[in-house]
Amino acid sequence: MKEALCEWCTYEDEDVGHAICYCPFVRQSWKHYFPDLLTDDVKLDIMQIVLKVLSQGKHEDLDQFFLIAWNLWNKRNQKIFVNKVLTTNQVIEHALSLAKDHKEARVHKQTRKLSSCYWQAPSQNALKLNVDEAIFATLNRSGVGFILRSSSSKVIMAASMKENGANDSMEIELLAILRGLQICIPMGIDELIIESDLLLIVNELIGAGEPRVIWFMR
Ligand SMILES: [Zn+2]
Repeated sequence: MKEALCEWCTYEDEDVGHAICYCPFVRQSWKHYFPDLLTDDVKLDIMQIVLKVLSQGKHEDLDQFFLIAWNLWNKRNQKIFVNKVLTTNQVIEHALSLAKDHKEARVHKQTRKLSSCYWQAPSQNALKLNVDEAIFATLNRSGVGFILRSSSSKVIMAASMKENGANDSMEIELLAILRGLQICIPMGIDELIIESDLLLIVNELIGAGEPRVIWFMR
């Protein structure tokens, strides 16, 4: 079956390999990010190109390759179906910024996982309140939970509460802290440490000081 002519260069058949990689209108940009990927001597199909990316580089390169390829395909569809023309550089920059966001989100998730792997007891005479939140977006519900422990890791009090609404996790975590304080303040605790694993809140409240511990009250 004969393919239709390429939307961009209008003189070559448009198979997937041409549309995404070999068309002169996109090829220059690939050269910038993957200099050795496309050569003139052998023309590869899209699967062979993917295998080449894998054999030449890291797993991350493959993520980047697919994001750029998908965005270039999208650029083609935008032109054909909504007559919107994006430049190749715009498309690739968009793809790379998506890749960056994705990577940062992954690192942040790992950091969060690591930081919640251990619990350190407070110093003698102090009590530590750990707070956390859970969001059930489909039910428009959320919950807050807290546990108060002593320097010998003894549990003094633990509770969870249902909350209405399912706003963003930062808001619910702040609510968890508030609920915890409402319970702890009347107990007349001399030293109370409040701990949260939501990095955003910790940064917001104390800046780049000691991680995880939010407030230290005497
Ligand atoms: Zn073309």
